[in-house]
Amino acid sequence: MSGESLASAAALLRAGEPVAFPTETVYGLGANALDAGACRRIFAVKGRPADNPLIVHIAGMERLRDVCAVWPPEARLLAVRFWPGPLTLVLPRQKGVPPEVTGGLDTVGVRMPDHPLALALIRTAGLPLAAPSANLSGKPSPTTADHVWRDLQGRIPLIMDGGPCRVGLESTVLDLTAGSPVILRPGGVTKEELEQALGKAVMTADEAGESAPKAPGMKYRHYAPQGRVMPISADSAAAGRQIAEQLRTVRPGERVALLATDETLAGLDAAQRARLTPVFSLGGARRPAQAAARLFTGLRLADESRAGLILVQETEDSGVGSAFMNRLRKAARG
Ligand code: AMP
Ligand code: MG
Repeated sequence: MSGESLASAAALLRAGEPVAFPTETVYGLGANALDAGACRRIFAVKGRPADNPLIVHIAGMERLRDVCAVWPPEARLLAVRFWPGPLTLVLPRQKGVPPEVTGGLDTVGVRMPDHPLALALIRTAGLPLAAPSANLSGKPSPTTADHVWRDLQGRIPLIMDGGPCRVGLESTVLDLTAGSPVILRPGGVTKEELEQALGKAVMTADEAGESAPKAPGMKYRHYAPQGRVMPISADSAAAGRQIAEQLRTVRPGERVALLATDETLAGLDAAQRARLTPVFSLGGARRPAQAAARLFTGLRLADESRAGLILVQETEDSGVGSAFMNRLRKAARG
């Protein structure tokens, strides 16, 4: 992207307009995080519920004082280790952050994205950017500029194209406002990596149970294509049997999509392939990072082919596989 287009994107942001931009996780729809009116535009464009908070994106530590009221040693340690990167830290909010950004909470989520265009845009605008994923609310998050265009064309003045997103799933959201850190949403930085960096156990929201502060957005319909999503076994042989069973029992005429590992796809026969559209690779078995990077593209392709049933192969439920499985479960719940 030329310096000129970066300057015009930054000018739009300073004028209170929303701009879509790439990050390493998914494409974001950014607006000036300190301007309530600009942030309301984001909710209107996406059709997003008002109590679902936005993550504030910064490009340098000096901006933190505009965003968070406190910056505890644990936050510092994690930022040094994982920023720029797919980790959002939830901390008490600074008064200047409008309630539109925090969903009315006293806390704010903040992160530094690991993408040169995102960092250049934030620096050129000279603003912290509040940015949720740049999709229509409820749809799978966009991992290419084309995904953004399909959802938001005509609704926003500019979409910056930085190619496909490396991580492909949203950031890990870690709450640092409770007694001990709690993962509110699994993402690109794993529980294991966080525990190693902090030298202590980190709970997931499920493990923390009732005492856990909830990530407000997690209750909403998410990552949901039009078709019915059905998870199938991570084991190729078992997955093969499930695919055969579904093709036998599916309503005549109903289109079936398959998102599965290369190993599982290699086991399909020609008749099965002919019945499935699309047949989409999630990458190699035991490579959950590949599956994570491809999931949302596969779900969108399944929708475009008007699949009524979308079979999606599971990964292991640990490491980055936890983030994949979290999104898959939500998509399946619809
Ligand atoms: P999105 O960028 O669309 O993935 O949405 C941001 C998500 O970050 C929200 O849906 C919440 O799950 C989480 N989040 C952001 N800010 C906070 C906060 N202050 N407290 C808890 N969760 C947050
Ligand atoms: Mg989102």
